[in-house]
Formats: sequence, C-alpha cells, structure tokens
Amino acid sequence: MSLENLYSETRTFPPPEQLAADANIKAGEYTEADDDRLAYWAKQAERLTWTKPWDEVLDWSNPPFAKWFIGGELNVAYNCVDRHVEAGRGDKVAIHWEGEPGDTRTITYAELLKLVSQAANTLTELGVGAGDRVAIYLPMIPEAAVAMLACARIGATHSVVFGGFSVDALSTRIQDADAKLVITADGGYRRGKPSALKPTVDEAVALCPSIENVLVVRRTGQDVAWTDKDKWWHETVEQAGTEHEAQPFDSEHPLFILYTSGTTGKPKGILHTTGGYLTQTSYTHNAVFDLKPETDVYWCTADIGWVTGHSYIVYGPLSNGATQVMYEGTPDTPGRDRFWQIVDKYKVSILYTAPTLIRTMMKWGDDIPAGYDLSSLRILGSVGEPINPEAWIWYRKNIGHDRTPVVDTWWQTETGSVMISPLPGVTASKPGSAMTALPGISADVVDDTAESVPNGGGGFLVLREPWPSMLRTIWGDDKRFIDTYWSRFGAGAGQGDEWIYFAGDGAKRDEDGSIWLLGRVDDVMLISGHNISTTEVESALVSHPSVAESAVVGATDPTTGQAIVAFVIPRGNVDTAGDAGEQLTVDLRNHVAKKLGPIAKPRQIMLVAELPKTRSGKIMRRLLKDVAEHRSLGDVTTLQDSAVMDLISAGMKTTK
Ligand code: ATP
Ligand code: MG
Repeated sequence: MSLENLYSETRTFPPPEQLAADANIKAGEYTEADDDRLAYWAKQAERLTWTKPWDEVLDWSNPPFAKWFIGGELNVAYNCVDRHVEAGRGDKVAIHWEGEPGDTRTITYAELLKLVSQAANTLTELGVGAGDRVAIYLPMIPEAAVAMLACARIGATHSVVFGGFSVDALSTRIQDADAKLVITADGGYRRGKPSALKPTVDEAVALCPSIENVLVVRRTGQDVAWTDKDKWWHETVEQAGTEHEAQPFDSEHPLFILYTSGTTGKPKGILHTTGGYLTQTSYTHNAVFDLKPETDVYWCTADIGWVTGHSYIVYGPLSNGATQVMYEGTPDTPGRDRFWQIVDKYKVSILYTAPTLIRTMMKWGDDIPAGYDLSSLRILGSVGEPINPEAWIWYRKNIGHDRTPVVDTWWQTETGSVMISPLPGVTASKPGSAMTALPGISADVVDDTAESVPNGGGGFLVLREPWPSMLRTIWGDDKRFIDTYWSRFGAGAGQGDEWIYFAGDGAKRDEDGSIWLLGRVDDVMLISGHNISTTEVESALVSHPSVAESAVVGATDPTTGQAIVAFVIPRGNVDTAGDAGEQLTVDLRNHVAKKLGPIAKPRQIMLVAELPKTRSGKIMRRLLKDVAEHRSLGDVTTLQDSAVMDLISAGMKTTK
C-alpha cells in the first residue's frame, strides 16, 4: 500500500528563543543517540535510583521478547515518591487535586509517601504480594494514584479499568488478569452528580471468584450494598502504619497490565514492566514537556484509566518530582469554562490534552478561553489522535496566545511512552505533524515490503529497534502479541532477520522528512485505485471556518470501489437550518476538492451534532462505516454514548 499525500502545510513555528536557550534537551541529543543508542538509553536510566545496577542494557536475543536493564533492581514507588522526600523536597506539592463539585486537596510528596506506605501496608495485610494482580476501578481521585503506587511498591501488578466501564468490561478484565483484589469507590462525581461505581463492582465480583477482597474509597457518601469481601479504605488504609520500606524488584518485574482503548476491536491486555518503562516515561516527560520541576505546574487532562494517565499523570511526572493538577470531572461542569478556570487558578504552565477536547473547545467558541488569564501556559501537548492542522493552530492561538510550542505526541498503550514528537526547545513544528522520532527511537514509514518510503511518500508506520518502555507481551497471549505487532514485516513475516514492530497506523513523510500520522491503516479508503487517508480529508474539512470536527469513512460504491462519506460537526455559531445546511454541505464538498484535489471530494456529507467516540474520546470510524453501508453496528461496548449512533443512523436514513 502506498498512501496518497494530498495535504500540504507550509507554516512552521520555531521555538521561542528563551525557551530554546533554557531547554532540557538540545539538538545534539539526536546525534548522540544515533551514535550509540544503547549508551544513550543507559544514560537516561541513570535518572532513576537503582538499588542494583544493571549488567546489560538490552537483551534482544529472543525477539520479539525484549529485556531492558538486565540484572538491575529498583522500586518504582521509591523513585516516584520517597527519593524526593529524602532529597528535602517533602513539602513540595505533588498533586493539586480538584474535585468536580469544587472541593480540593493539596498533597505534598511527604503526604503522598505516607498515603502510599499506608496503602502498601494494607495490601500486604490483605494477602496481596509481589506478582499478584490488583484491579483498580476508581474515579479521578488521588487514591487512584496512591493505589497504583502502592501496588508498584509491593510488586503487585495493577490493572486499571476506566471507571466508566460496564460490568462486562470490568469482569472480563478481572478474569483475564486473574486479579485478587479490586480497589474501587462508592462513586465519583460526573456531570454535576454522584455516579455510582460500587454496584458495577458488586456485579462484576459475583462473576469473578478470584477476587478475595474489595477495598472501597468513600468519595460521594452514597449508599452502598456491602458484602463480607468489602473493606472501607478509611477503616483500613487510613488506619494503617505509615512506615513501609520499599523492596527492590527486578527491572523486568511486571508493573501493570492495561487494556487498549478498543477503538478498532477487542482490547488487548498490554503488559509493561519496571525499569525500562520508568526510564522512558521519566525521560520523555522531562524532554517533551521541558519540565522544570521547581517552577512548572503541569496538567494532563487524561483519565488514569488510559495509558496517558499511567505514564503522564502517575509515573512520568512523579518520577520527575513534578507539581501537577489532577481533575476529577468533565470539561463542561459546571460550565464550559472549567478547564480555563483551572489553568488560571493553579497557574498551569504545561497542559497536555487530546484533539477531541481541542475540537470540542473550538465548537464551543473562542470567547470562553478568552475570558481567563492563560498567561502561565508555556507548553501545550496533544495526544490520542491525529490533530488536524486547524485544530493545532486554534490551540496555539486561543490557548497558547501564539507564544507556546505545541507538541503533538504520537504513541500507544503498547509503546508505553511518547515515541514521535517535537522537542519544544529544538523543533520548528508544523501544525498537524508529530515531526520526528525522539532521540533513541527509530520510527520509519515503509511500503508493503518494509522499504522506507522516500520524502513525499506515505505508507505504514513501523518501529525498527526495540525501546525501553515497549510492551513485553499481551498478557497471557504471546501468540496474539506476535501476530498483532510482529508478523506484518521483517523476520516475523519471514522476510530477513530484522524484527519490525507494526504500529497499525498509516503515516507519510513530507518533503522535509517530517512524519505525519494518518490514522489507522484499517481505515484507509480506496477511491478509484488511490489509497486516501481519513485524516487528510478530515483535516481539509476542519480547515473550513464552519467546521469544528469531522469523521470520514470509505463506503462501498458501485463506480469508484469506495466513496468518501463525511460526518461533520459545525462550529457553534454556524447556521445549519434548512437551505443553509444544504448549502454548507455543497460548499464543504467543493472545499475538500479544492484543498486535496477532485479525487478526495466526498460523495456525501452529513451534518451531525456528535460523533461516536470511545470512552477515551477517539472517533470510532468503524461504526460510521457500518452506518454509511447500511449495516447493523459492530461491537459498541467501548462506545461513550450509544444514543449518538441512533441519531446518526436516523439521519443517514433520511438522507438516503
Ligand atoms: P485499540 O488498539 O484497542 O484499537 P487504541 O489504538 O485507540 O485502541 P491507544 O493505545 O489508547 O488505543 O491509542 C493509540 C493510538 O492512538 C495510536 O495507534 C494512534 O492511532 C492514535 N494516536 C495516539 N496519539 C496520536 C497522535 N499524536 N497522532 C496520531 N494518532 C495518534
Ligand atoms: Mg491500538
């Protein structure tokens, strides 16, 4: 497959001079890492405190099963908490927590150490030990981070399940990992009211005989049913001893299992281990966000149930001794200004969020962020989906006031940490491009035969060399691990002896060699013999001033093989009633044809109020394709709001 390269972008944004001069990472690190990749990673591993040094950096003798920092020992929680306290920074704020109803908590590193130690003592008393699995099903409250760190501290492997998931999703994840304990809460606040979690856990636990105990945090105070497996957090953890000595674990000790978002199908239980994972999350959090732990206030808006929450709320920032904001609720509670109010209140300097939120903010209108003082911001990040160039520009302009670098970070649950991203003090970024692989990472864009495509070409995104925070396997399913990631190219496909990781995403390299992510390979459309990415057409649509967000799919077509069907959310101020709506769809079809060429002109455009998204906010194009092809819908269990699909299907029928 070679992907058409239709979208061209000429705007570039070099780093602000002062930021470049003071940056944690300078341009020289790319060559340093190229010269000796393993030496570069060994140097990064020294950011951490190891109780026993490693003998060898990488063991790749049994590919695709990697081992990093072999023989080394460390404790993840010690690295994230204790050592900052020991270094005299115990009074530094680790977490400024903001509850949805407006209640707050401030937790210093010294207090975090106490909480994590108490939780570790309680887990031990409940019979949880090294290697046991613990399911965590919590809202965005500090106890979520405490629970994860307590597991890490005693060597138990956590499996965090997003607090919005159903009984079925929770119980299958508990069963897959054979977990012994669930840590949950009575509920959490969502959209202005308490939303219960405990009943879901009760039903799930009834299906999971492996669970011996359920630890329940009281957050909302709502009534809960009680079984003899249940223990209150405040009657156990908060009464437990505050001293706990962290034991070292092997660098390859399992740290956590996390199931992928399920955008493309059944989630996979991704296994991450200790030393390599913490090395790369710590390194990337320092490099990509240029973190200055003494002065920055960092805020990542992800949920702890996703990998972004694991790597860039818990392990990366805390290992670096950062001060961060953690927010419990939704961006529109009590009003659509909540995010900007939080940035203003805590003087957030680094903000890391997702394109879905940026496009939602675009839809809500520029005047909302304009009402707040956002001058503390100095770096903006994006993750989760390709960011359309116009959304990137909107983010930089309306949130960053044209001063802040925007880092578009490409990575996956499987990669554990950021892999492709600008460096804010080095890279002249282009809106919509993740730019280049970080130092020490070898990303490539290849054709069907694993040959690198030349500049100007498009194809498959692959990773050619193992990296420290790579997944070690799919939990309990080595075969699926090999089949999914290693069997498309290279040795795993019977071609040569190089093991090549296939990410599942399409990408292109522009004339300067910068990398542009073009969405899932499975979503690529075949129009009259041309492979066209959904991302480019969506970006062309979003570049129209009336459009906030769009999703594009290829639907079977008798003449062209597939034809482009686009679903478009107009910006808040756009009139779409009657003829105005008709006219807008005509204009948009022409706009795309003008921007990308006639081949990319959508056959049909539907104006919609919402798009189907996963719980992590990613567009589920496969469902839209089902609609466009008049099929019944596939698996909808990871869908955020199933009513959206009913509305879209009804709309589709009336427009033939
Ligand atoms: P599943 O694998 O179960 O379908 P998922 O791929 O959505 O779920 P994640 O691991 O959360 O689960 O998401 C990783 C994917 O998100 C990447 O493979 C890519 O498609 C997309 N992605 C993440 N960041 C970016 C980015 N900066 N630019 C483009 N795409 C991105
Ligand atoms: Mg994926």
